Amino acid sequence: MDNTSLHEFCWEDGYIFCPRCSNKNIYMLKGDRYRCSLCKYTFHDFSGRWLNYCSLDHNSWEEIIKYYISGWSAASIARSLNLSYNLAHKSLKVIRSSLLIRDETFIPLLENPLKIRTYCSMAEGDARFKHCLGENAPVFSVRYAGTGVKVGYVPSLNVKEVLFMQTRKRFCRSMFVCDYPGENGYLLFSCCAYLRKKTRCDNFLDHRRSLEAESSFWTMCFEMLDRYHKFSPESFPLYLKEFEARYEHGLSSLKALISKSICSFVPDLKH
Ligand SMILES: [Zn+2]
Repeated sequence: MDNTSLHEFCWEDGYIFCPRCSNKNIYMLKGDRYRCSLCKYTFHDFSGRWLNYCSLDHNSWEEIIKYYISGWSAASIARSLNLSYNLAHKSLKVIRSSLLIRDETFIPLLENPLKIRTYCSMAEGDARFKHCLGENAPVFSVRYAGTGVKVGYVPSLNVKEVLFMQTRKRFCRSMFVCDYPGENGYLLFSCCAYLRKKTRCDNFLDHRRSLEAESSFWTMCFEMLDRYHKFSPESFPLYLKEFEARYEHGLSSLKALISKSICSFVPDLKH
């Protein structure tokens, strides 16, 4: 399955259908476009799908998927494919968002398919700047499941409740991790550095090592986070869902998962 093209991922049963009305009576136009015989909608392979957020052709997307799997940064991808940094950055965001949204329980966190609601008042350039104690940060879980992990959003818990739990607490950069009482796993959230300073958890290298000693999942997470440098607290669930996918899948099945994911239709979040 390693050589399945993005075209095949878009039309999985081989039938091209109208993304508007699902009609399968389609005729071909010039330039790889199609027209629906019923509603007359003109479309192409990527219409209505995640891939369509970036004006990139099939080959560029194939390359980007390959680089993403190898953990390349947006800057390296931009250089290699001669794209603008913004476009390379957006293409990675498209991959991560499409992976996140496969889990419908994360949809309440989204303002739109490519934007997670902000909650940290330390966001750069915010004129109403005030110290943030992470109080609005959503709480996530990582649970061991089979040979992989399952990342979840835990709306029933808030940061205050988590901080008061009698468990081991660890800060690693902007990420807070503690044991999940009664579960085989962890509770996590991410917010700005101010909270970390307040809680005086400065020995994060020790915290990182203790987590890495517990599971190869954490070793992989930190390796990836080292490559990604700084990320905004709001991007945290995108990375968690990415790590869940990377930990679960081998290289070739990860390629299939990502291809399938970015070739799926973007859900309408208004409903
Ligand atoms: Zn139609």
